[in-house]
Amino acid sequence: MSGRFKELRTGTLRIFGFEGTSQEILVRLAKEHRERFQRHFTDFTIHPDELAVPEGSYVRSRGQYKAYPFLESLGHLVTSNTHALGLVNLDLFVPDLNFIFGTAQFGGNAIVALPRLRQSFFGLPHDDTMFFQRTVKEIFHELGHVLGLRHCTNYCVMWFSNSLAETDGKPDSYCQDCLRQME
Ligand SMILES: [Zn+2]
Ligand SMILES: [Zn+2]
Repeated sequence: MSGRFKELRTGTLRIFGFEGTSQEILVRLAKEHRERFQRHFTDFTIHPDELAVPEGSYVRSRGQYKAYPFLESLGHLVTSNTHALGLVNLDLFVPDLNFIFGTAQFGGNAIVALPRLRQSFFGLPHDDTMFFQRTVKEIFHELGHVLGLRHCTNYCVMWFSNSLAETDGKPDSYCQDCLRQME
């Protein structure tokens, strides 16, 4: 193993599904993206049990859930040098934004919200391929932040997407500049 490759791998990743997230998508992610996860983390595992939706996260007036309590829940489940990725099948927001596709802490944990990645959220016919591709992009975007990357204006998964058109328009991989920064 080259030193360069070793540098890129910065600890263990644990993947969690919050209540209402199908185990099927977690298994599919692990199966189809095993190699990519292992390129950036020494090891990764899928947690078999659902995590409870954090108490007090629902905001009735908005019909949405606060994102931070989900990140906090993850924080209690992992120790240092282990990162957690949580998938949430609920519409999330943070104080200054109407909604988020996901959020992450530099060097910490990440969450991705699934509902708005589905065509059916917008009254369009469900497209499973599109949904899965968007999910993969948002996951690798948030994991990029976990690994210390900021937003990037190259053709890169670290492009900040504020709309599905932007998510669909970016690739699911890191550009050379971002890969170099991870080293
Ligand atoms: Zn971002
Ligand atoms: Zn980049």
